[in-house]
Amino acid sequence: MFRKRRNIIVMKFGGTSVADADKIKKVADKAINKKLQNFDVVVVVSAMGDTTDELISLAHKITRNPLRREMDMLLSTGEQVSIALLAMAIQDKGYDCISLTGWQAGILTDDVYSNAKILSINKERILRELNNNKIVVVAGFQGVTAGDEITTLGRGGSDTTAVALAGALDAEYCEIYTDVDGVFSADPNVVPEARKISILSYEEMLELASSGAKVLHLRAVEFAKKNDVILHVRSSFNDIEGTWVMDTNKMEEKMETPLVTGVSYDTNQVKISVFGLEDKPGIAAKLFGEFAGANINVDLIVQNVGESGLADISLTIKEEDLALAEKVLERLKDKLKLERFEVDPGVAKVSIVGAGMQSHPGVAAKMFRCLGDQGINIEMISTSPIRISCVIREDKAKKAVKVLHSEFGLDKS
Ligand code: ADP
Ligand code: ASP
Ligand code: MG
Repeated sequence: MFRKRRNIIVMKFGGTSVADADKIKKVADKAINKKLQNFDVVVVVSAMGDTTDELISLAHKITRNPLRREMDMLLSTGEQVSIALLAMAIQDKGYDCISLTGWQAGILTDDVYSNAKILSINKERILRELNNNKIVVVAGFQGVTAGDEITTLGRGGSDTTAVALAGALDAEYCEIYTDVDGVFSADPNVVPEARKISILSYEEMLELASSGAKVLHLRAVEFAKKNDVILHVRSSFNDIEGTWVMDTNKMEEKMETPLVTGVSYDTNQVKISVFGLEDKPGIAAKLFGEFAGANINVDLIVQNVGESGLADISLTIKEEDLALAEKVLERLKDKLKLERFEVDPGVAKVSIVGAGMQSHPGVAAKMFRCLGDQGINIEMISTSPIRISCVIREDKAKKAVKVLHSEFGLDKS
């Protein structure tokens, strides 16, 4: 069913898959198995278990405001531990292998510490090692700038390393090994009735990833779409076929497009409301221009103009950007003559995604009614042709996901 490329395969293993020595040995077996099937194998690994979280809390024991440069220096060590241990495990089983950090693997990024973008990959070193018949183990989540500074790609960024390498090396496909059997109709750890999806289009996966389904890093999916990299999301702990993410238009047999494919939620959201802005051209551009200049991604936006003629704007951002956003707003108080702003971290975003909804009216009304019937208040709404998102109270998020999953007929029969 899938187009053949060169016989390179990229396999990515997340934190839970390499959480201890035994698991690392099992990953070594999986990599060796692929090698024995005559593939050139590149393995990308994350930091072991909760290492990244532990390093972050360690830093916060030292200072409340660590410089992002030093955070990247610290966090990149997690992946370096994993690559060395996995290379040792593969070598111990009698196979040639070499571990490479992000910079050794030629991963060049921009200089946005803690959320760097991959600019290019110099694949010379990896190809040389593959030509020497070695399994190549690359540290996920990290790269280097043109000025030799170590950067990281944002939480969950090892997926992006893997997909970018698969694209650069023109790999046959990119396998994302994780702690669930694939991409489900909702987080299977929240909705036990969720079903594994066998094939997903890039567009649907993009919407799911951007609305909180952390099983794949958003930028990894963007990269896969742009470079036509076929993804196979599957479990580290069994051999069951997982979820293929690909250009579904290229498939020979056509799939039916369900109204709603999945439900996702994101609690990593903060709502900021800015009150008393002048209602005249250019004000919103200034406000959001300052956010963009500080590299803060704004998600949902709602504007209301009251009877006084002044405008209020509410927007959502990620929790980790809050301190920076507060600084920006303090600076803007005078510049934009805004009255005041309020910060509300107790919100979550719940979304339904499905390619079929663009040709079916009434999906939004059904979603709002379902939430309303459960007494869940909708504070903000945003839509794309194949997604509807609502901002609600954070403590209602899991309930909302469950009722929507059932309402749209996604529960396992
Ligand atoms: P890894 O460490 O392997 O990168 P992650 O924790 O980043 O793994 O992603 C896997 C997790 O994503 C799962 O354990 C699951 O709880 C969560 N998840 C959220 N939404 C979904 C979904 N729709 N399908 C599958 N997993 C999901
Ligand atoms: N170790 C990093 C994180 O925990 C990157 C990743 O796991 O993909 O976010
Ligand atoms: Mg992940």
